[in-house]
Parts: sequence; C-alpha cells; structure tokens
Amino acid sequence: MVARQDAKEPFDFTVAMRRLRAAVRPYPKAAMFELHDEGHTSVFEQLVACIISIRTLEAATLATARKLFAVARTPERVAALTVEQIDELIRGSTFHRPKAAHIRAIAHATIERHGGALPPDRDALMEFAGVGPKCANLAVGVATGLAAGIPVDIHVHRVTNRWGVVAAPTPEKTMPRLEQVLPKRYWLEINKLLVPFGKYVCRSPRPKCPHCPLLSMCRQVGVNAVDPTPPPDVGVASEPAAAD
Ligand code: SF4
Repeated sequence: MVARQDAKEPFDFTVAMRRLRAAVRPYPKAAMFELHDEGHTSVFEQLVACIISIRTLEAATLATARKLFAVARTPERVAALTVEQIDELIRGSTFHRPKAAHIRAIAHATIERHGGALPPDRDALMEFAGVGPKCANLAVGVATGLAAGIPVDIHVHRVTNRWGVVAAPTPEKTMPRLEQVLPKRYWLEINKLLVPFGKYVCRSPRPKCPHCPLLSMCRQVGVNAVDPTPPPDVGVASEPAAAD
C-alpha cells in the first residue's frame, strides 16, 4: 500500500518523533545506547563499541563489546593488550582483525595525545583510522548527550529519504542535508529511534507501511512494494541483517 501523495499531511518532526518513541518501545535499544545504560559511558568505550558495530549485527555487537570490556574497558587496559589478544576478544565482530589494530592504536593515542581520556570532539575522533562521521557523532552524542552532528547510519539514511525530508544517495550525503532540516534537539535521538524502527518497521527492502504510525505524513519515496504483515510486538526471534 503506497498512499496517494495528495492525501499526505505536511511532515512534522515533533509529531513524528512522538509517534516513533511509542512505535519502538517494544524493541531492543540500539547497541550504543544499551551499552551506555550498562555503564559504558566514556567517549573511549563508545567509540570502541561503534567500531565493533560496523557491519555487525546488534546482538553480536553487544556480546562482543561486553566481552572486550569485561577484560579491558579503559585505554590503559586496552593498550596493554596485543592486537592478537584484542582480535581474539572481538572475533564476534566482522573485520575483527583490522578493527583490533584500530582499537589498539586509539588506546595508545588516547594515552599519549589526550591524557588518558578522549575528548568529546568529533573532529579529534575522526583523525583516527577506522572512524568515520557516524561513529564520531555517535560516540560524542551518546557519551555526552549532546550531538555535534547527526549519526547517520544506513537506517537513518533509508528512513529519512523515504519520508521525503531529504534526498541523498548515501548516508554521508544525507547527514549534512538532514542537519539543515532536523531541529538540533533531535540530532541524537533520531539515531536512537530509527535504528530499531528501521530494523522492525521501515525495513529494507519492503517496509511495513500499512502498520506504520507515520504513513499519513511519509512520502514513501522509492517504496514500490510493502510488507503487509504487522511488526513484531516484542522480543524478536531473529534479527534482521546488519547493514552498516
Ligand atoms: S514504513 Fe512506510 S510509511 Fe512508514 S516510514 Fe517507512 S516508508 Fe514511510
């Protein structure tokens, strides 16, 4: 069901965010936010967890980050490990070998260049190999509660382009365009909401539009076929594939 465009309401971010908060309530939190709630609140931990999460399922990200942090959660502890030891600990993540080298290098640089604590500075974080704008924005945002930029992953990219509030071919190009239209107070929360929403409702390739609370205002850009089955209520049995 792709609704008639002339029947659509104007897109209202405040209304959309309110509906999204209710829609994602049954679903697991995005991994970085879950780890924050478990006490992994430093910029360093958040950055390491985000590196682990790249192209990795949420459940595997959580298990892998917890495994590493149980052994080493500070820059000093991580720097004391070899790349091989880190690689073994994060083996549940994709591309674990290069990620292990990046994580160890970040731990050393944190000690040598930043006095043992990474600053909440996205430009400083993006100087590290393996860290792009999404992880830099997310690490700073989740650690401090204040987003310096919107963490645009594949879910934020896909959903906001379907809404029709931006038109961009990649997450990197969606980020600056979305920052022009989305009120700053939502820059971090949109990631928190659209990660589960994109996994369980506005899925790729067939979104569950007939059951979507945003159908009245979403332009459904690029949606040619929808999934008529309802989203799961709670406790999904299998997790959709990782895409970022
Ligand atoms: S599920 Fe459909 S109506 Fe809802 S946000 Fe996605 S494309 Fe729009």
